[in-house]
Amino acid sequence: MNFADLGLSDELLRAVTESGYSEPTPIQASAIPSVLMMRDLIGIAQTGTGKTASFVLPMIDILSQGRTRALMPRSLILEPTRELAAQVAENFEKYGKYNKLSMALLIGGVQMGDQIKALEKGVDVLIATPGRLMDLFERGKILLTGCELLVIDEADRMLDMGFIPDIETICSKLPKTRQTLLFSATMPPPIKKLADKFLSNPKTIEV
Ligand code: AMP
Repeated sequence: MNFADLGLSDELLRAVTESGYSEPTPIQASAIPSVLMMRDLIGIAQTGTGKTASFVLPMIDILSQGRTRALMPRSLILEPTRELAAQVAENFEKYGKYNKLSMALLIGGVQMGDQIKALEKGVDVLIATPGRLMDLFERGKILLTGCELLVIDEADRMLDMGFIPDIETICSKLPKTRQTLLFSATMPPPIKKLADKFLSNPKTIEV
């Protein structure tokens, strides 16, 4: 399997080649074509399997095909920790260097001022931890009604950290018609329940 067989744009293939990757990992090979076809997805995969690129790459192409000037965020990636959110943001910048998409990293431990400024300018993608996202939402700084693509990453860690109620609240603010991708290393019953509630006819990939 080759990256060029997955349906990604030339811009992304160029960024992937420059990242030094010669072929997609198994989760990338299974997930990328499904995500590009707008299907919901459950990815049962650990960190280190290349799962970040399996959602960041198709997300960049989906967003680049839509309108280019973001008024409201069109997608949201939820991560359990600041470190993971920052890593995903780095990946987004690396893979998206030939695409003109804007992003805001919304994590705790840093002042809100710059995050609010970025939101006011308009961004395509939010990469956030649930606590800071809820805080900004409750202050009226974020509209989530345009977020048609949601990624819940590391769902089992979200559960361990007590974030499931926040995630339920956040999901209820997003449009009902949307694409949802959920990644988790394991599928304990509360995560299965979350997936049943918020995903629609998902494809499940286990690596
Ligand atoms: P992740 O599982 O997303 O945390 O990725 C683990 C590591 O694998 C990261 O350092 C990526 O840069 C790297 N990686 C992702 N996709 C590939 C690939 N297709 N070939 C080689 N390395 C990759």
